[in-house]
Order: sequence, then structure tokens, then C-alpha cells
Amino acid sequence: MNDPIAFLDLPRQQARLKDSIRRRVDAVFDHCRFVLGPEVEELEHRLALYGGAKHAIGVSSGTDALLMVLMAEEIGPGDAVFLPAFTYTATAEVVLLLGATPVFVDVDPATFQISISSLSARIAAVIEAEELEPRAIIGVDLFGQPAPWDELRAMAKLHDLVLIADCAQSFGGSYHGHKLGHEAIATTLSFFPSKPLGGYGDGGAILTDDDERAALYRSLRTHGEGKTRYEVERIGINGRLDTIQAAVLLAKLDAFDDELTRRADIADAYDAAMPDGVQSPVRVPNSESAWAIYAILLRDRHERDSLQVFLKNAGIPTAVYYPKPLHHQPAYAEHHDGASLPVSEGLGERVLALPIHPELTDQEVKRVTDAVVQWAEQQAS
Ligand SMILES: *Cc1c(COP(=O)(O)O)cnc(C)c1O
Repeated sequence: MNDPIAFLDLPRQQARLKDSIRRRVDAVFDHCRFVLGPEVEELEHRLALYGGAKHAIGVSSGTDALLMVLMAEEIGPGDAVFLPAFTYTATAEVVLLLGATPVFVDVDPATFQISISSLSARIAAVIEAEELEPRAIIGVDLFGQPAPWDELRAMAKLHDLVLIADCAQSFGGSYHGHKLGHEAIATTLSFFPSKPLGGYGDGGAILTDDDERAALYRSLRTHGEGKTRYEVERIGINGRLDTIQAAVLLAKLDAFDDELTRRADIADAYDAAMPDGVQSPVRVPNSESAWAIYAILLRDRHERDSLQVFLKNAGIPTAVYYPKPLHHQPAYAEHHDGASLPVSEGLGERVLALPIHPELTDQEVKRVTDAVVQWAEQQAS
């Protein structure tokens, strides 16, 4: 029958880009500056331009980017950091690593982005309880679409909170006609291989317009070094981006816009084909998604599981992001105040991510849509 489709197709990506990637990596082997070599600086320059930010700092991962941004704000014990319950664990774990408390916020049932009304209620509850000091909001561009940044900025201003943008899934996407990358005081990126701009290993970046913060991030990623190498001004981490990763990413960046166009075309084809009872992603107005994830919504867990099995049997892989909201995860439950976040709690039973990556052929896209339609017909009869 048909060969299985890949959820992420790195071999095909290699075949398409390996010449340009190898040229870049060979140059690193020639100069041997494996730590903070010239490719890191070149990539930082291009990322800043791309995201419309004054500075970009290459770091070891998207998680370390978030960690260093919080460290720079001196977030610690007694501080509350507001973030969505429906996101990847990395957004929240860094808060706990610093001894601060993540305060989970519910998400919008249509777009899955952080809910402003829930955020407002959660901030009010923390203020009233007088146990934690509200310090920061981490907005997450879930699945590649933008969070409601205008409202988040207003909320941060109203309560004097630091606003941080977790753009791990959305770099390449745009909002109100400009690329994402400067919606908040600091923006964090991830180059994990499955992200829209994926490297061949771990990597990340921090974007900011603020000169002082940029200098702090550079210090933090090199063990808190001061003006000279062995002057330790603050506690930092080993949080640098490898030169080899930067070289891979420079080659990937050349192909990035074409890949984004391909992802968007696949999303359009999926949207157009989804039958009744299978909801395609609700688009955030005035935005273009980076389409890290294309998540459809089924009526209930039974139908979601049934479609997932049906597709698996047709050689089509799917994934569930995220089966359990963070406040229900064992590691976070004891840090949660018990508030119910009903949208986040329900979504995990009904979402299903279809393969969306630039290597999919038109024929494969049609195989996916045909299978979903066939499943729906079978359900109806
Ligand atoms: C992937 C991801 C991260 C973490 O990035 P890494 O580079 O894997 O550390 C953080 N936040 C979100 C929303 C992510 O999807």
C-alpha cells in the first residue's frame, strides 16, 4: 500500500538543503572557532533583522532563553509569573527552577491562546491573596499563531508586570503585518529540530530592543562574566549557542520564507477539506501563523481517538499537543492553587495535530485530507 508519511521529515529536508548546510558547517571546521564563532554573530544579526528587534542573542535552547530572561529580571521565591496552562512544560519549568511560582491561566476556546479574561481574574486573585508578588507574564504564541499581544501589553502595563514572549513555535509568523519578534520586552526562540526554524540539535535565541537587557543576556549566557573573561559579576549559566548550530541555521534561514509559504499552503488545503464535525484551526485575525502545529478539534475524546487510529492505519502519523494541561501534571499540581481552568482541561481530549512540514508532497497532503473525509463518512453512516 502507501508508504507511511513522516510527521517530521529530516531525511527529505537533508536531501533538499544538505549542500548549503555542509558548505556552512565546513567553514566552521576550517576556522575551528566552535564556541561563539563568527557564524553566531552573523546569525544574531540576521535574526534581529528578521524579527524586527534591535538585538538577538544566540543561546543554548528555547528553555535556557526563558530561564535567562527570568534571571535577568531577578525573578525568584515569592514572585508570581502568569502563563497559560495549555503550553509545553518548558514555559513553566523555568519559573519553578528559580523558586518562583507559576500561576496558570486558561486559554481561549477558539484560538487556544491565553485568555485575557482568565488572566485578569488570576492576577486579581493573586493580589487579593497577598502571598505572592505579581511580577511577570509569559505570553506563548501557541502552535504558531500570535497571542493577543495588544491586550497582554495593556495588562502588563496596568499591573506593572514584565511581559515576555515565548515565540518558540511562532518565529516566522506575523501580526498586524510585521514579523513576530518584538511584541514584548524579551522574545525567546527555539531552534529544536521540529520547530519551524529548526536546527540539527538544541539551540535558541533571545530578541530584545533594550540595550541593557541585551548586555545582561550576553553576560548570563557566559557564566555571568563581566567586562573581562574571569570577572564574575553575577550568577549565570553555560547558555551559549554552538557555532555549528549557527552555521546550520544560517543555511536554514535562507530557505525559511519558502518553507513558511509551503506550510501555509498546506494549512489552506487542510482547511478547505475538513468535513463537518472536524474543526480546522480558528485563525487569529490580522496574523499569519508559522504553522508549527496544525491542530484540528474533534467533538469529544471518542471521536478524536477514533480518527487518530483511523489515520494511523492509513500510514498517517498524528500527535496530541497537549494531552494534559500543566496544572494537572504531577510536577506542577502541588504548586497550583486549585483553580479550575476548564478550557485547558477539555482541549487535551479533543485536539489532534496533523502532519505539517515543508517536505510533504501535494499527493501526501491529499492522502491526509482524503483519509479524514473518509473517516467522517464512515462516522456518519
Ligand atoms: C519547544 C518549546 C520551548 C522550549 O524550547 P527548547 O529549545 O526545546 O528548549 C518553549 N516553549 C514552547 C512553547 C515550546 O514549544
